[in-house]
Amino acid sequence: MEKHGIITKVSGPLIVAKGMASVQVYDVVRVSEKRLIGEVLELRGDLASIQVYEETAGIGPGEPVYFTNEPLSVELGPGLLEGIFDGIERPLDKIFDQAGAQIPLGIDLPRLNREKIWKFEATKKAGDKVSGGTVVGTVRENETVLHKIMVPPTLNGTLKSIQSLEGNVDAVIAVLVDDKGIEHNLTMKQNWPVRRKRPYTRKLPPTQPMVTGQRVIDTLFPIAIGGIAAIPGPFGSGKTVVQHQLAKWADADIIVYIGCGERGNEMTDVLLEFPELQDPRTGSSLMKRTVLIANTSNMPVAAREASIYTGITIAEYFRDMGYKVAIMADSTSRWAEALREMSSRLEEIPGEEGYPAYLGSRISEFYERAGMVETLGKEIGAITAIGAVSPPGGDTSEPVSQATLRIVKVFWGLSASLAYRRHFPAIDWLKSYSLYYDDMLKFFDKTVNPGWSKQVHYVNALLQEEAQLNEIVRLVGVDALSADDRLKLLTAQLVREDYLHQNAFDSVDTYASPKKQYLLLSAIVEFNRLAQKALQENKAYKDIENLPVRERIGRFKYVEESKVEQEISGIMTEMQDQFDHLERA
Ligand code: ADP
Ligand code: MG
Repeated sequence: MEKHGIITKVSGPLIVAKGMASVQVYDVVRVSEKRLIGEVLELRGDLASIQVYEETAGIGPGEPVYFTNEPLSVELGPGLLEGIFDGIERPLDKIFDQAGAQIPLGIDLPRLNREKIWKFEATKKAGDKVSGGTVVGTVRENETVLHKIMVPPTLNGTLKSIQSLEGNVDAVIAVLVDDKGIEHNLTMKQNWPVRRKRPYTRKLPPTQPMVTGQRVIDTLFPIAIGGIAAIPGPFGSGKTVVQHQLAKWADADIIVYIGCGERGNEMTDVLLEFPELQDPRTGSSLMKRTVLIANTSNMPVAAREASIYTGITIAEYFRDMGYKVAIMADSTSRWAEALREMSSRLEEIPGEEGYPAYLGSRISEFYERAGMVETLGKEIGAITAIGAVSPPGGDTSEPVSQATLRIVKVFWGLSASLAYRRHFPAIDWLKSYSLYYDDMLKFFDKTVNPGWSKQVHYVNALLQEEAQLNEIVRLVGVDALSADDRLKLLTAQLVREDYLHQNAFDSVDTYASPKKQYLLLSAIVEFNRLAQKALQENKAYKDIENLPVRERIGRFKYVEESKVEQEISGIMTEMQDQFDHLERA
């Protein structure tokens, strides 16, 4: 008879079973005759606490718990892209096809599609020495992505045979003989336990920005390729829109998007919207280079807890091929709540606001799996991780925000009041920061224009000054300000309205290349320079404020990329001309 333990207690998604001495923490078990999927969280003697990834209603003490003696793992191989999976990599699209919206219990579908036939093309030959991470061949997964088939990280030896062939992911494409003379069949897929990070040769310092085309991000708070960022913000402040914009526009080869739905139907929206998104790189669907992991609100919390590990493991797998991967988690607060619920059912001593004491270490374990690395196969690969955080009431003093802020290097703080004023993206320039700022500015100096960083430093300082000047205005009114200070306020207004504000839903404004960003900012800086000069020459502030060229600067963001240089020289000429014709006061 199959080895099993016996359930002694059921508490929602958590069950306790006895007779479990031979299992290990993080082993997968199958619960009851329904064979619900569970994972061992804790062992005490022969008692195991198990989190169950499916609805446990109707399960009770005395029922069996079957062992698999395998840790919770994902299948990695062709078929991940364009896929929509749940938190433990069950193919949601397949399940929906077979069973409708309600996921049947204990369903045993293969993670990767077995019907699909792939064309494997060998790039190594028999006799070649290979080790973990060596690319032995490729599969053209779709028109966007070339999937590289690698030796699993734990194997090395000599290829006894290898052949190009057509088959499903289980087809044996090569035989590897290890140092001990043991033969291993290599297939197009490999398995990896989600809670263990995939190895690499070494971590590299992030040196290059991940261009996003979002002006406030690239200019003021840039993120590096391989960097880590958090987007905290209250409900409705634009976290999801920012994440979608990054998925669409960020300089990444592969997108892994983990949705932990905030509202009841939000995940359904993602499932409907994502396949509609067009990939600006190729013109076809963005899904071609996307893996979507979805937790709908009718799924048990435990699956939500696993989803970020499933997501980051998939991201690591594509990184190992030498790709730039961007992973988004929306929202990590929902994930942390799942952790809290499991912890309280485990009757652990609660920490702050009921979260377990290990909240911080779990959050950092996730983000630390990001980074730019030299892979085992000697390629450069990167994972850039961006997590949304939704603190209740938008107050970032709560534990999830605090633990996240201690680890991330970029903080894009969304502000309710900016969102209320319809200033989008509502990234608050006074409280956001990027620790990559200096390095990224140097990179833009080299690649876009040597004047980039000077301009950005100036604008940054101006926005700080604006906040102070606004304080004075509040106390004594705008008339008390000198013309110089009023000009500062005016320039800051141009920066906010014409530069930082960016409409995600406008077909042109949705993305601005670094060059376009530079040109627009240089027009605003030039306006300020000419205006300062005019004030010194005793020209009236009111006339400067009313110059018609301001409107043309304001329209610049809607100018198509191919016309920006022509338009900017038009603006510069017109501006000079209008300043030249200002009357003395
Ligand atoms: P959250 O995920 O923080 O709850 P959403 O991302 O769903 O918030 O944004 C709420 C709404 O704000 C959107 O439906 C949209 O109308 C508006 N919005 C957010 N960001 C932008 C943007 N960059 N451009 C235009 N509108 C935006
Ligand atoms: Mg949202």
